[in-house]
Amino acid sequence: MKNEYDVVVIGAGPAGSITAKTAAEKGLSVLLIEKRQEIGDPVRCAEGVSKVWLRKHIEPDHRWICADVKGSRIFAPDGTMIEMSEEIAGAEVGYVLERKIFDRALAYEAAKTGAEVIVKTRATDLIIENNFVKGVKVSHLGQSYDIKAKIVIGADGVESKVGRWAGINTAIKPVDIETCAQYLMSNTGIDQNYCYFYLGNEIAPAGYVWIFPKGNDMANVGIGILGNKSGNGKHAIDYLNDFVNDKYPDAKILEVDVGGVPVSGSIEKTVANGLMLVGDAARQSDPITGGGIINAMEAGKIAGEVAYNAISRNNVSADSLNEYEEKWRETIGREIDNSLIVKDTFTKFSDKELNSLGHSLKGVNFSSMSLLDLLYALFKANKKLLWELRVLF
Ligand code: FAD
Repeated sequence: MKNEYDVVVIGAGPAGSITAKTAAEKGLSVLLIEKRQEIGDPVRCAEGVSKVWLRKHIEPDHRWICADVKGSRIFAPDGTMIEMSEEIAGAEVGYVLERKIFDRALAYEAAKTGAEVIVKTRATDLIIENNFVKGVKVSHLGQSYDIKAKIVIGADGVESKVGRWAGINTAIKPVDIETCAQYLMSNTGIDQNYCYFYLGNEIAPAGYVWIFPKGNDMANVGIGILGNKSGNGKHAIDYLNDFVNDKYPDAKILEVDVGGVPVSGSIEKTVANGLMLVGDAARQSDPITGGGIINAMEAGKIAGEVAYNAISRNNVSADSLNEYEEKWRETIGREIDNSLIVKDTFTKFSDKELNSLGHSLKGVNFSSMSLLDLLYALFKANKKLLWELRVLF
């Protein structure tokens, strides 16, 4: 580890690794630090991604793909099932990843391109001089170091502190966070070709249960509920236990994951003098699906390119880094804003309304397999909803 780099990236999740890879590819000197001793472990993710978007960043590799999904089955509270197969959808569907291997593969890509990657290295604060971020203070194997950088990139995930250290408000209210619990289970007996979604306020208030196949009769069985619905003696894990005991009494739990997903939509700013935030640290996950892997990678790519542009023009001020802010808001930002509007409507639905939406889906011709597209189709099929969400169409 040197004491000076062009770019220091904090956090080796998908956002950090793609940022580091992109910046290193451009010829910048890059340090990628990760506080954990193993990149990607422990997993806090259901590991579902869109194939099309993933391929934009990395060639699929059988070592980190657990399942190649052929369709989705979505259940309304009254049990009405909507099935979307590849034939109906006629579009690309998703992979379920092994993130422990996937995240490491992304970090390896960054390293291969020339970035220095160091694990067991925690950022403890920023070095700030004259209102400019000038580097990072890190703790590595019990020693503290100051590392200078022209640009620091906060890719430190949902629990991000980097933004706050730079004076950016990244606080999330309970109503803006989906609290999640997930089991990796064996013996569920599910059809491994499908992802399953269960909706309903009794099952998952203001959220949903997901079951994503992991191969060999294993599956990620998880739940996300809005933070403000958790409490009064019943938390996400309690809802998950109720669901699992009811549906899969004979299944075995091999792993437990708990975590949060920001569903707040875009925060006001993601740049400061000498600093950019990417991925969950910038609250770039999708407010309705909670998916954040692809957005993190997309934002990371933009951030890596903008780091190069800003350093080339010898101007790393917030004004100069605003190029990143504008570019991600024009692309993934639009999707995030639209999803937020859908989420705010969707989370108010009663089970009766969810059932009626499920029924109105009969005969809808889906053009893609994403949950978001499904929801759009639902809303389009229901005139009252369409009126409430007219701003989207
Ligand atoms: P992370 O992947 O969280 O990476 C941040 C990294 O920064 C971590 O490795 C962390 O250890 C490191 N770090 C933090 N602080 C420091 C520090 N001070 N110094 C050094 N390193 C630090 N998304 C999907 O697309 N599909 C899904 O199916 C899906 N399911 C989910 C299920 C659950 C239960 C949860 C909680 C989330 C899910 N998500 C899903 C969201 C997805 O996991 C995140 O959006 C994604 O991981 C964001 O990537 P990131 O790189 O921004 O952050």
